[in-house]
Amino acid sequence: MPIARRTALTAPMAAPLIVPLAAPPALLARKAAAQAPASSRLAQAPGYYRFKLGSLTVTTVFDGYNRRQVQGLVRNAPLEEVQGVLAESFLPTATYDGPYTVTFVETRRQLIAFDAGTGGQMAPTAGLLAQNMAAAGLDPARVGLVVITHCHQDHIHGLTTREGEAVFPQAEVAVPDAEWAWWSDPGNESRSPEGQRVNFANVARRFAPYRSRLRRFAPGAELAPGLRAVAAPGHSPGHSLMQVEDDGQTLLLLADTTHRPELFARRPDLHSIFDFDPEAAAATRRRVLDQVATDRIRVIGYHFPFPAVGHIARDGQGYRYHPQEWA
Ligand SMILES: [Zn+2]
Repeated sequence: MPIARRTALTAPMAAPLIVPLAAPPALLARKAAAQAPASSRLAQAPGYYRFKLGSLTVTTVFDGYNRRQVQGLVRNAPLEEVQGVLAESFLPTATYDGPYTVTFVETRRQLIAFDAGTGGQMAPTAGLLAQNMAAAGLDPARVGLVVITHCHQDHIHGLTTREGEAVFPQAEVAVPDAEWAWWSDPGNESRSPEGQRVNFANVARRFAPYRSRLRRFAPGAELAPGLRAVAAPGHSPGHSLMQVEDDGQTLLLLADTTHRPELFARRPDLHSIFDFDPEAAAATRRRVLDQVATDRIRVIGYHFPFPAVGHIARDGQGYRYHPQEWA
């Protein structure tokens, strides 16, 4: 079973046109899952998590995860060292799951989304956003504003369908000025890490149906009452945090300041393969984590384990994530 399941996870997304006579393990695994009684299926149902922040309603919605090898994940530490940190948190040491969680804030005036998820176009284990939004009673047509924290694929793929149609038909899209300036200028392509050059074409494609309702914002801009952008460059050129405040309560959306906290908050100086400028990313990470730990600010992390809401505390040379209680 473990072998079949691994194969299923790495199988290409499109089904083959011609099914071979001997069905590949991926198909067999899917068939077995379809026939298994509900109680023995491994799929979970972590759809959404909702809480109040003053008069605002915050909902985190699970979009699934992507599985990759631990090898190659960190650039500036030996594999065994990385595996040791993961093992401390009882995480697997060969594979690494990066979850995706999109946050929605309902104000008196409008429904705001923070990033757009994977749109089911990144990994066979991701793309649950639409169904989990439906379960949460969140209609994409009711979203008035989508705030993009940065333009990496896992945050903007979900703006459009495969066919290029807007997933949020009524929404304005707000994007950090520095982020837009970088990825919309082909002249920057040769100055970007090779693995990130795909973002130039993808930004053009994903924002295309929103061009007439695009808002660019500067650090410190107030995007809606109580919602303020905070510059946090490094992970990407214009990577931005979002501070949400109401009735004396504060929430900080960390976006990708740290990828999984069990690894990159514990060891903030590690350079992840996802970071555009690893040195700047690490400096930003230390500064932001230190601030939220000192001020005891509630945080949400896009790649934190679902429901991705909690607090950060200082611990040794790094920080530890404390998930919010399910109340
Ligand atoms: Zn990300």
